[in-house]
Order: sequence, then structure tokens, then C-alpha cells
Amino acid sequence: MLKGKTALITGSTSGIGKAVATRLAREGCNIVLNGFGDAGEIDALKRAIAAEYSVMVGYSSADLTRVPAIENMMTYVDTEFGGADIIVNNAGIQHVAPIEDFPVDKWNLIIALNLSAAFHTTRLAIPGMKKKGWGRIIQTASAHALVASPYKSAYVAAKHGIAGLTKTVALEGATHGIRCNAICPGYVHTPLVDAQIADTAKARRISEEEVIRDVILDAQPTKEFVTVEQIGEMAAFLCSPAADQINGALLPIDGGWTAH
Ligand code: NAD
Repeated sequence: MLKGKTALITGSTSGIGKAVATRLAREGCNIVLNGFGDAGEIDALKRAIAAEYSVMVGYSSADLTRVPAIENMMTYVDTEFGGADIIVNNAGIQHVAPIEDFPVDKWNLIIALNLSAAFHTTRLAIPGMKKKGWGRIIQTASAHALVASPYKSAYVAAKHGIAGLTKTVALEGATHGIRCNAICPGYVHTPLVDAQIADTAKARRISEEEVIRDVILDAQPTKEFVTVEQIGEMAAFLCSPAADQINGALLPIDGGWTAH
């Protein structure tokens, strides 16, 4: 379905991004990975995806909190792959603390990575997409793009910002064959959530088991985590012709959390 196209998936060395990259590769799409991690493991991931799906796989180690690094990454995608046809703005971090104790440097970092990086990749990719008359921009947003939770001020602010960016880009790209949508997952058991469980336990002064039972699964009516594979399927669907008229949408995949 996506043969000959290139997808850049930020934060794809782990968790959701890795699953989305693998799923898009299954559609025949060339893949550019990004994110941190062990060099050997990243190289093995590159080789595994390339071998299994017979696609080209590149990698950028860009720290997306730094604008020049994002610009270099986008130049690399242009030079080596002829530009990104699909961008999945997925890299993200979390920090949990009451607002009066929220470290200012953590606020700045979360806004830079979870919000501003998506602005930069998008502004740099849009001219190429317009020229080709086709583009798909997908945000890994969050249920926190739709509702808030205590102690997550920076994350909730960034994700609500992503919702606004999504709608704006959807309007600007609409007559150029460009679609921009946000996937809004509930809790997915990835390394990001593992860290959050520990932080939430500290902030609420309860045990990690209580966080999983009373905070995480309490918010999610199905009492089950969303899986990374389910998000990969949603991303692939958003790149398919069946989704051509889905634009500017904030799509929950949260077991009913935001139905509350
Ligand atoms: P994860 O921690 O497993 O993966 C995060 C990825 O981002 C990694 O590849 C990491 O190397 C990369 N990354 C971190 N800092 C970076 C930086 N400065 N520059 C470039 N890359 C960087 O997390 P995940 O759970 O897979 O989260 C992915 C996205 O999904 C995030 O935007 C997160 O907010 C969102 N999300 C996660 C959940 C969940 O429950 N896990 C729910 C809703 C939304």
C-alpha cells in the first residue's frame, strides 16, 4: 500500500514508535527511525525491519529538543530518502509532580519535545508534501490531549497544544492532499509508563501496585492496557485510502477513558 513512500517516525527506538515503524514497514514503506538507545540494539532493529519487509531503513540520533538537530534530521531524510511522505510525531517524555514543585527545566523540555518538535518536523516537511500532492502527518498525542490528570501540567499542556497544531495543519494541507490527525491513546504499557508508575507513586504517596490498580486501570474502563500493536494498526489505517477523508481528527484509543 505504501511502497515507494518514506515514513519518519520520531522516538521509534522504543515502545509505540517502534511498533508504528514496524507496522508501516509491513506496508512496504521505507522507514527512518529516530530516538535514543544502545547503538547495537538500534542497528539490530534497523537490520531486522529491512530484512523482514525488504524496505530501506535509516536512523537519525537527533535530540528533538534541539532545533538544529531536527533541521539536520530533516535534511538527512530529504537527501537520503527524497523527503518524508509520512511523519509520525511520536517522541515524548513525561514528568509527574504537583505544579508548585514542577521543575522549570522539565517544563521546558516537555514542551520542546512533546509539542515544539512536531511543529519543526511539520514546517520542514510540508513544502515537499505539497510538491508531491500527498502527505500524512500523524501525532501520537494522548487521552491527555482531550482531558487532564493532576500532576501532569507540562504533558497535558503539550498534548492539548498538539491537538491545536493537528487541526491547524489539517486545514492548511486539506487541498494539497495532506492529512493531519492525532491518535490519542490511553495507557499503554511501555517504558514511559513504567517510569510514570514510580513517579505517581511518589507524588500520591501510594505503592506502585496501587498506582496500577487505582490510578491507571481506574481511568481505563476496560481495565486493560492499550497495546502498541493496536496503535500501529491505527497509524497504518490513517495512511490508507480508506482514511482519505479523516482530517484534523483527535482519535481516542483508550478503552473508554475519555467517555467518562
Ligand atoms: P517510550 O519511552 O517507550 O519511547 C519514547 C521514545 O522517544 C524513545 O524512542 C526515546 O528514545 C525517544 N526520545 C526521548 N527523548 C527524545 C529526544 N529528546 N529526542 C528524540 N527522541 C527522544 O514511550 P512511549 O510510551 O512509546 O511514548 C511514545 C509517545 O506516545 C509519547 O509521545 C507519549 O506521550 C505517547 N503516549 C504514550 C502513552 C503510554 O501510555 N505509554 C499514552 C498516550 C500517549
